[in-house]
Amino acid sequence: MVERLKKSIRDIPDFPKKGILFKDITTLCQDPVSFQRTVDLLGHRYINQKIDLVVGIEARGFVIGAALAYKLGTGVVLVRKPGKLPHKTHKATYTLEYGEDSLEIHQDAIKKGQRVLVADDLLATGGTANAVVELLEKLGADIVEFSFIVELEELKGREKLAPHKVFSLLQY
Ligand code: AMP
Repeated sequence: MVERLKKSIRDIPDFPKKGILFKDITTLCQDPVSFQRTVDLLGHRYINQKIDLVVGIEARGFVIGAALAYKLGTGVVLVRKPGKLPHKTHKATYTLEYGEDSLEIHQDAIKKGQRVLVADDLLATGGTANAVVELLEKLGADIVEFSFIVELEELKGREKLAPHKVFSLLQY
């Protein structure tokens, strides 16, 4: 199954800039079997972990995060790019594999002590996920794990997120 999932991801060299090998998961998402297996495999891992909320990171994290939340019977919280969330927000700035950006979360999205699972498509340097740690800590969330479809191991994002737990389905 891992091989099938890997085959369903498309490599785009030099996107969005020279030297980056972009792992395009849109091809995994549009293949019904690969998408269903991805959600099932990730969901199965958390089914008995008393997750209260799944946090999805804009934008591809929304796709996997919402599907996981549905499977786990939880709500889903959106972490968005600046200026998109309409209510009061917390903001964190971070460095990306190819640039700098900020993320926001609604201040009332999570209650102190709620058990959250964070979902995104891909872990590279861990800068994005680390910004989410900052946001979730402000809200007092209990971070159960970070869950990714893809992990680019040589960029050591996992180390950046320590001591938080990290799980990925496919490693490169
Ligand atoms: P990072 O903050 O470096 O861990 O980057 C993770 C975020 O950037 C994820 O939301 C990914 O969607 C995106 N990203 C970074 N590098 C890549 C890559 N090589 N291929 C696809 N997406 C990437």
